[in-house]
Amino acid sequence: MMQEIIMVKCGEIILKGLNRHVFEERLVKNIKYRLRGLGKIKVHRAQATVYIEPEDGSKTDQMIERLKRVFGIVNIAKVYRVEKDMDKICALALELMKETDAKTFKVEAKRSDKKFPLNSPQICAKVGETVFEGIEGIEVDVKHPDVVLWVEIRDTEGYVYTNKIKGAGGMPTGCNGKATLLLSGGIDSPAAGYMIGKRGVELNAVHFHSYPYTSERAKEKVIELAEIMASWCGTMELYIVPFTECQLAINQNCPSDEGTILMRRMMARITQKIAKQTDSHALVTGESVGQVASQTIYSLEVTNQGLELPVFRPLIGMDKDEIVTVARKIGTFETSILPYEDCCTVFVAKHPKTKPVLADILESEKALDYDALIDRAVEQTEVIKIAGVKSDEC
Ligand code: ATP
Ligand code: MG
Repeated sequence: MMQEIIMVKCGEIILKGLNRHVFEERLVKNIKYRLRGLGKIKVHRAQATVYIEPEDGSKTDQMIERLKRVFGIVNIAKVYRVEKDMDKICALALELMKETDAKTFKVEAKRSDKKFPLNSPQICAKVGETVFEGIEGIEVDVKHPDVVLWVEIRDTEGYVYTNKIKGAGGMPTGCNGKATLLLSGGIDSPAAGYMIGKRGVELNAVHFHSYPYTSERAKEKVIELAEIMASWCGTMELYIVPFTECQLAINQNCPSDEGTILMRRMMARITQKIAKQTDSHALVTGESVGQVASQTIYSLEVTNQGLELPVFRPLIGMDKDEIVTVARKIGTFETSILPYEDCCTVFVAKHPKTKPVLADILESEKALDYDALIDRAVEQTEVIKIAGVKSDEC
C-alpha cells in the first residue's frame, strides 16, 4: 500500500486575511509539539491545508487521535497522494473503496488546479463509474452514503481518501494571548477553560488549596484535571495557592454570611496578581448565573468590583446539563465527580448572602490585612508545569 499522509484543514484562520500565515505557522508549531514522540514527520502547508507525512507510516492512527484535540483544525483525513492522471486516480479510488465494506457511496471532487482537464462533476462521474463497475452490488447514495470518497486535485498533485474526521475547531492555541483559569476540582471550571482555550487563548490555571482542610488527594485531582485540559489547550502552568491563612482570617474577622463572597473576591485578586506576573490578560471562571449564592448577578457584581483584568465566564448562560455535556466531551467529567472536598465548601456558611452590598463588603475587608494576605499567598504559591503531551504517550 502507498504511503499514508495526514491532511489537516485549517478552520476559521482562513478568514484572517494578511495575518493568516501567522495563524497557520502557529498551528504547524502546535501540531509538531502534539505529535512529539510518535516518530519523525515532515510537515508542510499549502492552500489552508497542512500535510503531515510520517516517515515511518505506522503511527498515523495515534497521530490522528492527538490531532483531534488540536484547536484550529476543522477536519482531519488519512489521505493517499496520487499523480494527476485520471487512470491512476480511478485505480487508487477503487482500491480504497475495496478496503471498506460500504454498501453505498458517493464521490466528492474538488479541483483547485483549474488547468486539470476534467471539472469536478466530470471527476465524480468518472471515479463513481469505476467504483460502481469494480465492486459488485455497491450503490450510489448521495444523501446518506456509508462512505464518501473524496478526490482533490491540488496544484501539484492529487489526493484520494475515504475518511474525514471532524477536528476540534476553534483557533490555534497561543494566537489569542494568555488567560488565567480559576480551576477548582468541580465540573464547571475545566469546561470553562476548554471554551476559552478553544478560541486560541493559551491558559494558565490557579487552584486554591486549604491544606489541611483540603487533602493532598484533592490537589492531585486538580493536577489530573489540568493534565486532561492540557491535552486540548496545550502546555500550561498550574499555580497551587495555599489559601488556608486567607480563609481563616476571613472566618475569624468577618460576618459568616459574607464569607463566601469575601473569599471569591480574594481569590480573584490573588489570581489577578499571578496573571499580571505571567503576561496573562484575563481571568476565566466556571460561573453561571444563579447556580449558587456566589453566582447571583449581585454577587458577581461585587466579585468583579475593583478588578482591573476582564473576567471571562463562558458558561454564564448555560444550564448544568449543558455544562456536563462539555465536560463529558473533553473527558474531565469522570475526574471532576470524584468526591474530594474543595476549599469553597470547607468554610461555607449555612446561609450565605445572595444579595451582598458592596459597601458592607468593603467595610468587612477593612478588618483584614488584605494586601499582606494576598502577597503571602502569592509568594508561597507552588508552580507545576503541565505538559500538553503526557510522557507515557511518547
Ligand atoms: P461545580 O460547580 O461543578 O462544583 P465549580 O468549579 O463551578 O464546580 P463553584 O463553587 O461553582 O465550583 O465555583 C465557581 C468558580 O469559582 C469555579 O468555576 C472556579 O472558576 C472558581 N473556583 C472555585 N473554587 C476554586 C478553587 N478551589 N480554586 C480555584 N478556583 C476555584
Ligand atoms: Mg459551579
